Amino acid sequence: MRPEKLFPLFSDIQALAGVGPRVAQYLERLAGSRVIDLLWHLPTGFVDRRWEPKISELVPGRIATLRLKIGKHRKSPRRGIPYKIAASDQTGKLTLVFFRAQESYLLEQLPEQSERIVSGRVDSYADKLQMVHPDYILKPDQRAALPAIEPVYPLTLGLSNRTLQKALKGALKEMPELPEWIDPGFLKQQQWPSWRQALEAAHTPKAEADIQPQAPQRQRLAYDELLASQMALALVRLQAKKSKGRVNKATGRLQAVVRSGLPFVLTASQEQVLGEIQADMAAPEAMLRLLQGDVGSGKTVVALLAMLSAVEAGAQAALAAPTEILARQHFMDLKPRLEVAGVRLAFLSGRTSKNERQKILTDLEQGRLNLIVGTHALLQEDVKFKDLGLVVVDEQHRFGVYQRLALSRKGRTAPDVLVMTATPIPRTLSLTVYGDMEVSRITEKPPGRRPVTTRVILLKRLDQVIAAMRRALEKGDRIYWVCPLVAESEVLDLSAAEDRFETLSGIFPGQVGLVHGRLKGEKKDAAMADFTAGRLQILVSTTVIEVGVDVPEATVMIVEHAERFGLAQLHQLRGRVGRSSRPSSCLLLRGENLSEVARSRLAIMRQTDDGFRIAEEDLRLRGAGEILGTRQSGFPQFRVVDLARQASLLEPARDDARLAVEKDPGLSTPRGRALRILLYLFEREAAVRYLKSG
Ligand code: ADP
Ligand code: MG
Repeated sequence: MRPEKLFPLFSDIQALAGVGPRVAQYLERLAGSRVIDLLWHLPTGFVDRRWEPKISELVPGRIATLRLKIGKHRKSPRRGIPYKIAASDQTGKLTLVFFRAQESYLLEQLPEQSERIVSGRVDSYADKLQMVHPDYILKPDQRAALPAIEPVYPLTLGLSNRTLQKALKGALKEMPELPEWIDPGFLKQQQWPSWRQALEAAHTPKAEADIQPQAPQRQRLAYDELLASQMALALVRLQAKKSKGRVNKATGRLQAVVRSGLPFVLTASQEQVLGEIQADMAAPEAMLRLLQGDVGSGKTVVALLAMLSAVEAGAQAALAAPTEILARQHFMDLKPRLEVAGVRLAFLSGRTSKNERQKILTDLEQGRLNLIVGTHALLQEDVKFKDLGLVVVDEQHRFGVYQRLALSRKGRTAPDVLVMTATPIPRTLSLTVYGDMEVSRITEKPPGRRPVTTRVILLKRLDQVIAAMRRALEKGDRIYWVCPLVAESEVLDLSAAEDRFETLSGIFPGQVGLVHGRLKGEKKDAAMADFTAGRLQILVSTTVIEVGVDVPEATVMIVEHAERFGLAQLHQLRGRVGRSSRPSSCLLLRGENLSEVARSRLAIMRQTDDGFRIAEEDLRLRGAGEILGTRQSGFPQFRVVDLARQASLLEPARDDARLAVEKDPGLSTPRGRALRILLYLFEREAAVRYLKSG
């Protein structure tokens, strides 16, 4: 239950003065529907109205507050020509300009011969000074109503900064006094204000420095959010460590059989990480390890051998993947290899029939199955194991921390957990996603891989693209064509992919398949299977193939409107080709008029295929504020933290959280109780629930 103190923060914004249903709709689109959402919506700039020059001192482009004598009105002669009002002081002249003006309003606000205080941006137009739509028009005796400095917020069409300010003023009044959750020593050392003061200060910037991520109030708020997320991770970790682990000592018997059937030998790097994993598994504590490796680095075979270690130790193993396609592919891959070793395995997803599912559940519970591969269907309550020894989670960032825990609680003792990710996240970021799991890294790619040639081509030069496709097809190669995320709308994405499928089918009849998120399971499988087997040579898809698909004969990756994808996604997509010794290429098709950021992203893709470098650049560019196309890249979403610029706060937050949880695992001391409030404040209450039930 959320603490009562926080109720005002989580109430509807419509309760705020001046926020009616219409304004609420805009605010909701911009920030969210609750008071707290509005409070987390921080200004990105400010307007300083303290400059009060004479007209002769004016500088175009600056905000000025002027005391003016109002002169003649020159009405708008016709639509499109603005209404102009002459104005002056002792030192010069200036024109006030209004588009779409209502004459009666202007005559009342700015009567001829009156004195007025106006504040706004001054421009020069045809060598004359003007102010278009002053922000404020006041009578001299209303001077006090003019704010000296105003925050400037990110807005949405239809919502003015003034309206947002008003709503925020109301929201700030709702802030309760909350107990301090930051360690007092640390707080003093940082010289940070309290949470309430910090939020207040963040919304009332007085100088350029105040809107920077380094401002004490911004640092404080970011730290709060990081601390909340690290607390949640620390609690989950504590829970996992509380239960006794299982000693999973490999004998090597099954592994030897499977290894002898592999068409390759493991790289030194694969052997190294496998060693690390097996050492952890053999220890009495439960393993919590992250296996990082760029796309195509060969994580699957490592996972396979790790799972065999568990089976050799007499336990069961589970492999969970985030999508049906990926889970099924893993299963198809593993099945023949495992069956020769006598390992009994099954596949479970949301599409498994009721009868079959029942049989699988019984077999799992009675220990007739050694290994299971599946989707999040594995997480369901009624999936029980006889003796679960190892859980492997692929592409983990698509699962939440709590889902991971749900799986790891399925063992009698805590099973070992291995999380595989192909997103080579920078160290700092891996802290936010995984807390401080142990990390194993595959640093080399299997031998014989040729680098993928990457080209950026204008989308309208489709002829070039088609020619390149023809050449590839003549050599017997296969081609992926990925369609962009058009909007946050599956329907629109889909229609783009369908259109592309139609045009390509016209050019390459009988050779093109289509997969997308809406396609029914069997159809999707059929298209994938046809492509994998080579009955289809071109596969058009939305981003569903992003993760994990492994078709070595595919050598061309075409990404339509590549500028709309995030760097991490592009890297993942490119990793689908270059999986054999044949030369591969990646064609990034771009639209026109790219933003600076989009341009840099494509340039980076051309320059490097180093996943870590790409991840760092991704973070840097994302810091530049562009969100489009990155939403799916799997990084956690923060409300106030700017990870690119505030990453240095991560480690102290992690250490603080660990220590706090170690010292006070029940969060029952005064500080512990304050930390609970913090968890609720940032909506990590799921972690609190664990605290109570565990
Ligand atoms: P990822 O790390 O992206 O999951 P996979 O495990 O899918 O990579 O491996 C990519 C491809 O490389 C697969 O076809 C796999 O069989 C192959 N592979 C894995 N390890 C080796 C190796 N040591 N030598 C040669 N090929 C390998
Ligand atoms: Mg993989």
